Formats: sequence, structure tokens, C-alpha cells
Amino acid sequence: MFDRASVVTPGGVNSPVRAFRAVGGTPRFMVSGTGPYLTDADGREYVDLVCSWGPMILGHSHPEVIAAVQEAVSRGTSFGTPGEGEVALAEEIVARIAPVEQVRLVSSGTEATMSAIRLARGFTGRSKVVKFAGCYHGHVDALLAAAGSGLATFGLPDTPGVTGATARDTVVLPYNDLDAVRAAFAAHPGEIACVITEASPGNMGVVPPADGFNAGLKELCAANGALYISDEVMTGFRTSKAGWYGVDGVSPDLMTFGKVMGGGFPAAAFGGRADVMAHLAPAGPVYQAGTLSGNPVATAAGLAQLRLLDDAAYAKIDAVSAELRSLVGDAFTKEGVAHTVSSASNMFSVFFTDEPVRNYDDAKKQEAFRFTAFFHSMLEQGVYLPPSAFESWFVSTAHDERAVERIAVALPAAARAASEATA
Ligand code: PLP
Repeated sequence: MFDRASVVTPGGVNSPVRAFRAVGGTPRFMVSGTGPYLTDADGREYVDLVCSWGPMILGHSHPEVIAAVQEAVSRGTSFGTPGEGEVALAEEIVARIAPVEQVRLVSSGTEATMSAIRLARGFTGRSKVVKFAGCYHGHVDALLAAAGSGLATFGLPDTPGVTGATARDTVVLPYNDLDAVRAAFAAHPGEIACVITEASPGNMGVVPPADGFNAGLKELCAANGALYISDEVMTGFRTSKAGWYGVDGVSPDLMTFGKVMGGGFPAAAFGGRADVMAHLAPAGPVYQAGTLSGNPVATAAGLAQLRLLDDAAYAKIDAVSAELRSLVGDAFTKEGVAHTVSSASNMFSVFFTDEPVRNYDDAKKQEAFRFTAFFHSMLEQGVYLPPSAFESWFVSTAHDERAVERIAVALPAAARAASEATA
């Protein structure tokens, strides 16, 4: 299948990290998913620790999500008009996240961050955008400078195709460094439209914000007339009922969402202060639109998923994550592998270093070659990890004792493989 795909699709995939280039080998083509398991085209079953890169927080094929999708699809797939489902999903988001007074639905996280930045520029009349190295906000031109995720493994800090003019309006700073943000505001007075950050980064591996970092960003933005944009595409509705906002309580001016809120369908959103959102067309002058925005099937899936995500669901995900973190850490300790299990709420990843990891430079110092050996051993034993050392691992409410046991059984040999790996 990969050979077939490689003929008609660049690199054989529709999103680069899926190609396994960071770890080598042939990507698995999945044909079905149930609960915490995926089954590939050769009939092999894997415990899934990628969860479609975050969305599948209830596991695969959750019966109530599938039923909601079937009900919606039976009424038609797209109308290009307003519909009740999109209003209900917007109401659910607004009810969960206090700083979001109004929200606009889009189809991908990339669209959400791209639109939020356009709105911030339109609202402030300024052009520059501050982002942090290692934070990934989708493949928006202006945000592809020093981004994490696939770019972390491909080493393409500035991708061809992004013009110098675009890049010049992006200021890239080290993560967790408020002095650098202060200096940027001082160097570009009256020019910075917004600071965008992952609410808690998961695209350089998991690197949580230092105490007071997000609050400091908000304060500096407010003091300098810029908007503070918190990208919760990954953390939203995952790290708590109200995402990372529910963890640190810092109110952004604008926020972006995706992944979990789409229930496995292309649905994403950006929202925030009503006075800022009022600048968006047709209420205001900043244009933004989408043929499939608020799609009835996607919004039905997202709404069904969000409604199932109550306190008990988050307690379960947090508990499974804690158990896995401790199993993983113990396995590496037993084999004498230098490592740090880094977590932010229930998101976590392993850095192959025992030095603290506070930013992208720290993350890149890890012995990533150990991850390759670890990854392939886990894969052979039926555990599907993200195919890069710079990605978060994701669990779901469906990861039960049996799934955890299968991971526990695979870990000792994989940790040994990591310990024996050479650069
Ligand atoms: N923002 C963050 C924090 C992300 O993790 C991602 C995707 O991984 C995006 C934005 C882009 O979302 P999408 O892949 O839906 O365009």
C-alpha cells in the first residue's frame, strides 16, 4: 500500500510525520479502530497511543459518537446554510471556556490559527506576530518559522515557499523566556499585533509553561496593546474540561481549538473576546469564510464527544496517563536509560536526557536515536507510538486495564532496545 501511495502522493502520505521518516521503516496503514486499538491492513492489532494525534479522546468508534454521526448523515452531509448543530457546538464551547464569548467554526487547526492572526492584525492595525520556537500552530505561512511537530524532525526551520516578506513579520523567541518577550516589545514598539503560544506545548515533545509564563505573556500583551492568543488546538478539551485554560486560569484575548472538538472529523474553531470577534465578517471588516465550516456531520460528532467528556472522563484519562508515565519511567530506570517523562496534565512524552527541558533547544539535545529503537520495539510488540521523539503521546477513556497491561508487557524489551541503541 505504501508503494502504491508513493506513486500518487508525495512521500506516500497526506501529512509528513505519518511517513515514519524520523524513525525509519514503513508506515502502517490502518483499516479500523475500536476503543484503544487500531488494526492495520495486515490484520495486526496495536494499542494506540497516538489517538489520531489527539482527537480520539473517547477511543475509536465510540458507539454514541458513531450514532450521532449516523443520525446526522442520514439527514444530509452539507447544506452551506446555518444549522442548529453548529450553534449547539458553539454554545458548548462558550459554556466551557469563560474567555470565549464568541466563536467561529472552521475545518482545521491551521485555519483556526491563520484566522486568529488575521483577526489580531485587523483588530490592532499592526503586522508583527510573536511566536515561540518549537511551538507548532499548523502550516500557516507566517507561523512556519522554527515550528515543532513534523518540522522538528525534518529540520526545515524555514520551509521553501514562505516569502521573506512573510517571515519578516514573524518574531521567533525561545519558549519560557519572558525577558525575550519584553525585549521584543521594546525592539518593535507599536508593531506587534499578537503573541501566539501553544497553551502548553506538545509539538516539541511535552514542555509545559513555567509557573507564571502564560500570565506574564498576558500581562506584557495587555501593557503593549497586543493580543494574547492561546493555541489550544491540542490541549483544548483534553487537559481538562476547559482545556489548559481550566488548568492555569489565564484568560487569553483569542483562543484556537481543533482535534477533540471535532470528534475525529474536520472541525476546529477560534474565539474569544466579543469586542475582538465583532471585527470578523459579516459583523466587521476582517474577512474569513469556509464552504464546509460548521459542517453538520462534523459538528454532530464533536458535540457528541464533548457531551460525553464529563469530570469522570477526565479523571479516568488522568489516571491512565499517570499509570503509563510511571510504567514508562520505571522501565527506562531499570535499564539505566537517561530520560525525563515530561507531562502537562494527561499529555506526556519522553525526552532521552536527564537534563531539564524548558524549550526547543533543550528538547533537541536529547538522544533521539534511542527513541527510534524504542519505537520499533514497541511497534513490533503491538503498541503504536507517535513516530517521532518530538510528539506528545495521547490516551483515551478507552485505555483500560487490558490495554495498559499490553503496554506494560512491551516496555522492558523496548527500554532495553533504547539502552542498547547507538547514534
Ligand atoms: N495548533 C496546534 C497546537 C497543533 O498541535 C496543531 C496540529 O497538530 C495545529 C495547530 C494545526 O491543526 P491542524 O493539523 O488541524 O491544521
